[in-house]
Amino acid sequence: MTEKPKFAMYWAASCGGCEIAVLNIHEKILDVDANFDVVFWPVAMDAKYKDVEAMEDGSILLTLFNGGIRNDENEHIAKLLRKKSKILVAFGSCANEGCIPGLANLSDSREIVHTAFNTISTDNPHEIYPMTSYDVPEGEIHIPKILPVLKTLDQVVDVDYYMPGCPPESHQIAAVIDLVVDVLHGKAELPPKGTVIGAGNSTVCDECKRTRNVKTIKSFQRIWGVAPDPSLCLLEQGIPCNGPATRSGCNARCPTAGAQCIGCYGPAEGVADYGARLISAFASVIDAKDPQEIDRILDGLVDPTGQFYRFNLAGSLLKAAVPAWKAESTHEKEKA
Ligand code: SF4
Ligand code: SF4
Repeated sequence: MTEKPKFAMYWAASCGGCEIAVLNIHEKILDVDANFDVVFWPVAMDAKYKDVEAMEDGSILLTLFNGGIRNDENEHIAKLLRKKSKILVAFGSCANEGCIPGLANLSDSREIVHTAFNTISTDNPHEIYPMTSYDVPEGEIHIPKILPVLKTLDQVVDVDYYMPGCPPESHQIAAVIDLVVDVLHGKAELPPKGTVIGAGNSTVCDECKRTRNVKTIKSFQRIWGVAPDPSLCLLEQGIPCNGPATRSGCNARCPTAGAQCIGCYGPAEGVADYGARLISAFASVIDAKDPQEIDRILDGLVDPTGQFYRFNLAGSLLKAAVPAWKAESTHEKEKA
């Protein structure tokens, strides 16, 4: 009997939603089992890192890697799976662009640890913090060490394909599995390296059925404070919708359901910096010339970082705030 190609999936710094999205492809999951030997998928089966370390380099055909690189364990496994995999896919927003865990790049990692272990909701009178190694009678225990900034997968290793989404839509995952199975059976070819798969090539606005005609606004408002017209573009009603800068692929799921797009599919094709493109799109609908009036309208955007970089900070041109970058630069110098 011919050996089936090997499949792996890994979960680094992320919420676990990507794993659920894969399980949510229903009976299509049987195609994964029929066509692949699942050799490593910690959330779904028991496997040890040493099992992967013992594999031949390049022996895993396909690895879906979700999560950003937040600690030295994530970094080690990203490098290990890169070495062992023929095709490495950055799967989901965290691996592609940092996503919500990437917002921690606004802070120095010591501040993050301090906040986690010494806040109003944490009783820590003796200021006890986790240690990265500890001697016990059985040996030395290691826990992962937090890195100064969260990085996207391709900021750490070479990536073959990118599959965006928070999480990727199940119908898109199923389409990618169909494609890989067709490739295995000689019925299709893989796209060029670096291609974004399981998503569209335009913007959420291009998939959105809402009518655009007003073009200008006098204020931004939070969606829960208004009853938006169900058929008009949300942005043109003053609701900050991120559709103009966001990659298509979800069938404009949120605006269709009455909520603004918050950008989980990441930057649209050709967008170098998501936040910069969105700022420009928002600026183009503001109906004011007086600087004070413009400031008043912009004050309606109550969380600018969350609005413009909620999913994309780590993958943006900014990447991180100054304290985190300073710590990263010291870390890199120490490694060199
Ligand atoms: S801005 Fe939002 S609501 Fe308007 S067309 Fe684009 S996706 Fe649809
Ligand atoms: S509409 Fe925007 S936020 Fe909603 S699923 Fe699509 S890309 Fe994500």
